[in-house]
Amino acid sequence: MKPAENPSGVGASFTLHGAGVSGGIAIGQAHLVSTARLEVAHYEVAPPEIEAELERFDRAIAQVQGELAALQASIPAGAPAEMKAILSLHAMLLNDANLSTVPRTLIRNRRCNAEWALTLQMDYLASQFEEMEDPYLRERKQDIVQVVERVLKAMLGTGHAPSAPSHEEDLIVVAHDLSPADMILFKQHRYAGFVTDLGGVTSHTAIVARSLNIPAIVGLHHARSMIREGEPVIVDGREGVLIVNPGRQVLDEYRERSRLLEIERQKLKRLRNARSATMDGAAVELQANIELPQDVEEAREAGAAGIGLFRSEFLFLNRDDLPSEDEQFEAYRQVADAMHGRPVTIRTLDLGADKSINGADRGGPNPALGLRAIRFCLAEPQMFLTQLRAILRASRYGKIRLLIPMLAHAHEVEQTLAAVRHAKEMLDGQRIPYDRRIAIGGMVEVPAAALSLKYLARDLDFLSIGTNDLIQYTLAIDRTDDAVAHLYDPLHPAVLQLVAQTIRSAKRAKTPVAVCGEMAGDAAMTRLLLGFGLREFSMHPAQLLAIKQQVLRTRLKEVEELAARVGRAHDPAKARALLAKLNA
Ligand code: PEP
Ligand code: MG
Repeated sequence: MKPAENPSGVGASFTLHGAGVSGGIAIGQAHLVSTARLEVAHYEVAPPEIEAELERFDRAIAQVQGELAALQASIPAGAPAEMKAILSLHAMLLNDANLSTVPRTLIRNRRCNAEWALTLQMDYLASQFEEMEDPYLRERKQDIVQVVERVLKAMLGTGHAPSAPSHEEDLIVVAHDLSPADMILFKQHRYAGFVTDLGGVTSHTAIVARSLNIPAIVGLHHARSMIREGEPVIVDGREGVLIVNPGRQVLDEYRERSRLLEIERQKLKRLRNARSATMDGAAVELQANIELPQDVEEAREAGAAGIGLFRSEFLFLNRDDLPSEDEQFEAYRQVADAMHGRPVTIRTLDLGADKSINGADRGGPNPALGLRAIRFCLAEPQMFLTQLRAILRASRYGKIRLLIPMLAHAHEVEQTLAAVRHAKEMLDGQRIPYDRRIAIGGMVEVPAAALSLKYLARDLDFLSIGTNDLIQYTLAIDRTDDAVAHLYDPLHPAVLQLVAQTIRSAKRAKTPVAVCGEMAGDAAMTRLLLGFGLREFSMHPAQLLAIKQQVLRTRLKEVEELAARVGRAHDPAKARALLAKLNA
């Protein structure tokens, strides 16, 4: 911690360190949120309005009490016993004074609006549960959050529609933890930056943060409990440094750094129309990763040669129902239309692990190793068929390609191809047109896939290396867990060998191969990957021009030999030293 002069007099200045996930500098005021608070406005209620606010709160509680009672009464006879138990538990939590009475005191005494009062109390209760030794009781934290979310929803229909803060662009969101689904909601906001206590740099939460192109830090451990609402903060997303209550000198220094970064960013824009090729003329395809159809605009602005990864599962988050075939079709067609014949690679649903449909089980006791991605799709054939039909129908509007996530077994490829054939036959039967030659590719994200590529890729048209998961599964590190984030190392020799070997094997088999994990958007890795023989990269649009700059500055002949040495390095320290030389 580094003390500094603090002109505001709000509190002492201190610095926290975490992992920077999205570059740039943001200067603003802390805005404390919790998961359920993301859509919740915070405002002070004027004294004459307090009684009405209390009534609004009581009405919402009563409404949810009614809803839960109705649900309990309508449980079918054969339903699992847990269902009944959960509903009784939720009713009990809701009736407890902790949820139904304490927030009233906050409304009355602190003049918080009802949503704010309820979520403040939720945070308090959740932290109490979190500290319990008994794992069963610890888990109950989730139940509190679920009950509160129900009440918040009910409040939406009880008068005052909560409005978003008007000065969002000055706010730095400070949260304990955020799910990818929470993050996607940020796309509707214009926050200056965000920081969290938990999370790893390649968690989906961090990935979406990067796509928002705002400075962000994860893994700060205690930021949420140490920072107060409204305190001035600086986020240095590149260094992973958060300065709370900065002094004037520090503020001036960061304002200057931010100005210089902006100049850099503007300069990069000039590369938008430059041909993407190395100094010795090798063409390098730079494509974009997107999560939602609206992201395609940014991809176009960055001059992306196509969409290398459309994480389609984001269409399924933050909603109670599943998107219909027509809704999916519209989303895919929108992207295909916008890309005007350039490739659009739609990855089939990668649900499970940290991305689950509202309220669904996260995929067993060890979600990253559970029913995730293609495993989940093959276990849910109807849901998969709906998606495949939607993708096929959209394929006549552009150059759509289909990408299968998390393959480990050749039979998963066979089953997927059979499912695609079935979807095609159905469309033929209905005389619905689609691209009969739609390319089907697979992701290499599990060591088993990289090591058995010859068999796995036999029937695939292209490959894409998902380095985020490949690192997670090679090093046995949960990418969402900040406790092991320090062990997440793209330069681990095992990782480099798998990446280099996959590129080599794919080239030998004349199968096009790309990298679409975060490694592709890391300018420090560009020369290494080029040296390994990679010619297709897919990354967030915000990173694309920085990578193009690296490509334009690289002469293949000068990097191949050194890249091979990095790939052969026995220890990460040696690999790091060689990589520095490669980038010099
Ligand atoms: C990856 O694993 O590298 C990848 C691109 O997929 P995701 O990050 O969505 O898991
Ligand atoms: Mg992945």
